[in-house]
Amino acid sequence: MSDSSNISLAVIGAGPGGYAAAFLAADLGMTVTLIDPEVNPGGVCLYRGCIPSKALLHVAKLIEESEQSKDWGIEFAAPKIDLARLRSWKEGVVSKLTGGLGILSKQRKVQYVRGRAAFENSNRLRVTKTDGSEESLIFDRIVIATGSRPAIIPTLKLDTPRMMDSTGALNLEDIPGSLLVVGGGYIGLELGSVYAALGTRVTVVEMLAGLLPGADRDLVLPLHKRLEKLLDGILLNTTVASVKDEGTGIRATLRAQDGTTQEKVFDRVLVSVGRKPNSEIPGLEKTHVRVGPKGFIQVNQQLQTDDSSIYAIGDVVGEPMLAHKASHEGRTAVEAIAGHKVAFEPNAIPAVVFTDPEVAWAGITETQAQKENREIKVAKFPWAASGRAVTLDRPEGMTKLIFDPHTERVLGIGIVGVSAGEMIAEGVLAIEMAAQARDVALTIHPHPTLSETVMESAEVFFGTSTHIYRPKRG
Ligand code: NAD
Repeated sequence: MSDSSNISLAVIGAGPGGYAAAFLAADLGMTVTLIDPEVNPGGVCLYRGCIPSKALLHVAKLIEESEQSKDWGIEFAAPKIDLARLRSWKEGVVSKLTGGLGILSKQRKVQYVRGRAAFENSNRLRVTKTDGSEESLIFDRIVIATGSRPAIIPTLKLDTPRMMDSTGALNLEDIPGSLLVVGGGYIGLELGSVYAALGTRVTVVEMLAGLLPGADRDLVLPLHKRLEKLLDGILLNTTVASVKDEGTGIRATLRAQDGTTQEKVFDRVLVSVGRKPNSEIPGLEKTHVRVGPKGFIQVNQQLQTDDSSIYAIGDVVGEPMLAHKASHEGRTAVEAIAGHKVAFEPNAIPAVVFTDPEVAWAGITETQAQKENREIKVAKFPWAASGRAVTLDRPEGMTKLIFDPHTERVLGIGIVGVSAGEMIAEGVLAIEMAAQARDVALTIHPHPTLSETVMESAEVFFGTSTHIYRPKRG
């Protein structure tokens, strides 16, 4: 381990990017100050993002499974939902994890300052603490890890608790009779699924021609089909032209691509149309940090900004706005600060949508390959041929591997199905290790598991998958 004990480092923002950076810096011997308004590290991910939503999605899955179990001869009574207890369980999960991070922070002797930082110059921060006091502090290096916030559509701004962003939706104030979800992306589908499972009639409105625009269509199809049963409606190529507070509900005017409109009244509206980087840090103009046209802080492969003392990581430097990408960038930035020869140059960053079924992908997608005119070979394994998927009564899944046809290297992976998010890492490892189809096919996978579908996809590449019969040509 290198000695960085002469470096003082400030990290602004204690989300999965910021705290991962701060903890590694402390492990490398730096004197670390971590600044965030919350009582403990965690950021949006732990307090009002990934973690509470996954706790609620777990509950949603349980409710859905208890319904499906009728088909297996097991019938449960309709669930009685004690909202206060559900909310406090979710909050318990959050406080357990953020409290744990607080302890890890103390154990590492990271100085955790509750407050907001402003730049006085490239090395000096003015921190306004949550207790009202102010302090001016000097550091050798500063890492900006301020994250992002929900994007707002001006026409959908109404000052009523009926209009929610992801934070409001996660608060779970009530179980509304009806909910309009604006945006069929990660948040809209995850939280829309939670409310639908709890009994809300949910309508999703998506501006583009399909849900989850970043994912390949064949991965989205099984999810779309299941959501069609769970949700009240999925309106594609549709936007919300206006919303009006009618006291007892929100009247929304939905406009389809062909110009036709329809009006509907909803108890609540969730706006989930993307996120914006938090790059408007007071005093940033006193440094040499450059902010790009979309609001992202510009950095090089070491995550260093145009100001040699200042680094930036996570949502504030660009897409994809994902916690695991932020953590990796945070650790890379700290290693660069410690003088290690490093660069942020992943071959694959996994994306997981935690709906039911889950959708996950990494590396090159088929859509991207087509756009780039790149020659690829795709091998798909349908889960109807997976013993494990059939025992779970979830045969709608699919695993596919995307290969370079010449080198036979794995370039991408896509999975739709239960636990896709748990399985995607094998594909990421294959991509990062430059594995070839044969490596994956010859790796013994445990039976009966869903992970076998990855191995069998590689066998499909050679036309020799055990559980798929392909008649010989000619
Ligand atoms: P998103 O980019 O995933 O989805 C936004 C959707 O809204 C898109 O499909 C877009 O076409 C649509 N849209 C945009 N304007 C619209 C309009 N006027 N009317 C109707 N639809 C419109 O964004 P999100 O769901 O808000 O999530 C934000 C980000 O947070 C994600 O991109 C992701 O990086 C992160 N996130 C990740 C996870 C996860 O990893 N599981 C979960 C939640 C959020």
